[in-house]
Amino acid sequence: MTDRLAFARALYDAVPLYDPKRAPVELDLTDNTNLWGLPPTAERTLRELAVSRITRYPSLYAAELKEALAQFVGATPECIVTGCGSDDILDSAMRAFGEPGSVVASSEPSFAMIPIFAQMNGLQYVGVPELPDHQPDLDALLAANPRILYLCSPNNPTGAVLKRETLERAVREAPGVVFVDEAYAEFSGVSAVDLAMRVDNLLVIRTMSKAFGLAGLRVGYGIGATPLVRDVEKSRGPYKLNSVAEQMALAALRHDMQWVHEHVTLAVTNRERLAAALRDRGYTPLESHANYVCVPVARAVEVGQALRARGVAARPFPGLPHVGDTLRISVGPWELVEQFLVAFDDATADVYGAAS
Ligand SMILES: *Cc1c(COP(=O)(O)O)cnc(C)c1O
Repeated sequence: MTDRLAFARALYDAVPLYDPKRAPVELDLTDNTNLWGLPPTAERTLRELAVSRITRYPSLYAAELKEALAQFVGATPECIVTGCGSDDILDSAMRAFGEPGSVVASSEPSFAMIPIFAQMNGLQYVGVPELPDHQPDLDALLAANPRILYLCSPNNPTGAVLKRETLERAVREAPGVVFVDEAYAEFSGVSAVDLAMRVDNLLVIRTMSKAFGLAGLRVGYGIGATPLVRDVEKSRGPYKLNSVAEQMALAALRHDMQWVHEHVTLAVTNRERLAAALRDRGYTPLESHANYVCVPVARAVEVGQALRARGVAARPFPGLPHVGDTLRISVGPWELVEQFLVAFDDATADVYGAAS
């Protein structure tokens, strides 16, 4: 970097600006959002929103939304903190619990933002390759003596759910706080919230970006013991959740749960259909508990480019431990999955040569 400011923080030299350079495509299956659209009452709330909601400041800490979220997850409002996306919860929580230089340990592969948030907050990131069964290597993670231990369940990108015994041991033996990122928990039906209500060092992180179809609104939340979430809230600061997001999220939680459940069921059905279609083609997709399928595919980056040339985007993950190159494909309405499969057959024939 030649244009470094004399007064910049030294650590920011090494912080990349996150930009996956996603060129627009006709069918984007890279971000695991809800491809069916927006819950109906949330949409109506947007259209009918009073102007005063925009001209005035939002609520300080989204108290009303916390109540609705508490009911949804089976917690109490005092155990919830909201944020501008779950990204904001992760970032604020790292700032709240990491001293400069503290270790943030994460199983790999996992959520790409974790090393970036660690760096942004002056923390030291340690990535530990997962075990062959796609569970985190807890011995190695604990050996890094992490102030913050990040686990993701279902894991992005593999789709694996964290075993309960591994979670319980992590919470028992971790020297600091354990984060469990449950961005896709609605699709797995498995959650650590009950445990987070009983211990003082477990923060469960959730979002309305995936199952609820509200990614553009940026609504995330954390669940944990009251002293834990209060520190995240201090680090987060006031007014982080905007009024439009709060009103639409509230509407979805109060009136659209049937829509959410129906579309979760559809996503799970189509996920299994997509996995079967890939097995029919000789591939071995990883068992997924989320709304995407991660499938080992040789030369995945090239296949990804060939897909893009056909107007379809799926996310390649080159060189994952134990499985090698993979593609992660978001699941949506079956017509879109079929459109993907047509492009995939064409793209793989192109990359591997028509003879294979
Ligand atoms: C999508 C995703 C998030 C980010 O969610 P936002 O609430 O939109 O910030 C967090 N964690 C994982 C694992 C994700 O896949």
